[in-house]
Amino acid sequence: MLVNMSAGATRQEINHVIDRIKECGFQAHVIEGAERTVIGAVGSSGRRSEIEALRAAPGVEAVIQIATPFKLVSRQLRQTRTIVDVSGVRIGAEDLVVMAGPCSVESREQLLETAHAVKASGARLLRGGAYKPRTSPYDFQGLGVEALRFLKEASEATGLPIVTEVMSEVDVETVAEYADMLQIGARNMQNFSLLRKLATVPRPILLKRGPSATVKEWLLAAEYLLAGGNSNVVLCERGIKTFETATRNTLDLAAVALVKELSHLPVVADPSHGTGLRSLITPMSKAAVGAGADGLMVEVHPCPERALSDGPQSLDLNGFAELMKELRKDPLQVIRAA
Ligand code: PEP
Ligand code: MN
Repeated sequence: MLVNMSAGATRQEINHVIDRIKECGFQAHVIEGAERTVIGAVGSSGRRSEIEALRAAPGVEAVIQIATPFKLVSRQLRQTRTIVDVSGVRIGAEDLVVMAGPCSVESREQLLETAHAVKASGARLLRGGAYKPRTSPYDFQGLGVEALRFLKEASEATGLPIVTEVMSEVDVETVAEYADMLQIGARNMQNFSLLRKLATVPRPILLKRGPSATVKEWLLAAEYLLAGGNSNVVLCERGIKTFETATRNTLDLAAVALVKELSHLPVVADPSHGTGLRSLITPMSKAAVGAGADGLMVEVHPCPERALSDGPQSLDLNGFAELMKELRKDPLQVIRAA
């Protein structure tokens, strides 16, 4: 439930409402707006009727029900958009943030070469998998800690913050030591113990949508992070499973636009996993920007034909430079900024 304080509510009146919400068995989430304060009463086991009765408390304008099952991620709770700061790179602000790099970190040379090239082309974050969720146990599984060290070195050399996936609860501390942003992979979107653990880690999170997750399930996964104390969450649409087999996944851009309506969290799109096809990365990147994406995640490899994972959906270094050029001249960016 939401308690909307009136514009002239005093600090004392606000504190009284917060105390009452806690007494009634809910968590109180305070959102200070430019004009008024809104306080969310969130939880499942509190005494709702007593919150409703706060309508009569001094300084309270209205008590309203949050209509969606996700509360803290809902735009009803927070109208102003969240900006997630990843070591100085602001996602959800005016600029489109492009995260680029190889699917997997394969060697120091491969990563450094890619990092310098994507930086020169305008990428703002470096991506690269150290721990890889592979469909087959016989496929390359990632270099683990060694890859994290290469990522750190590449970050220091280029100034690009790092985003990398953490697959398991046991690796959280290690990955958080090296990475600026932790990625929850599509297959782990509903790994609730991993979500709970990452809610307590002082790092921003990139939460990929599960391949068969509905928008509601995706936003409820984000709710775990916010409810557990981590509100620096960026959502990533990376394609879902449909009957279509011509593309690896179906990049659901309607979900990008919808989630921007439903939630205050920033949203990025991943046209590499979303299509599986290099030739579709540029058109779908433009389409994602048109749908309102705050950023893009793109796989880039110096020699995609030699990539140990996801070569067919990776741009080479020139291809990435071309993509960035296209995005800069695309009028959709102008429309979006307006
Ligand atoms: C990745 O980013 O390389 C990756 C494995 O992504 P997803 O979890 O979306 O498949
Ligand atoms: Mn990949």
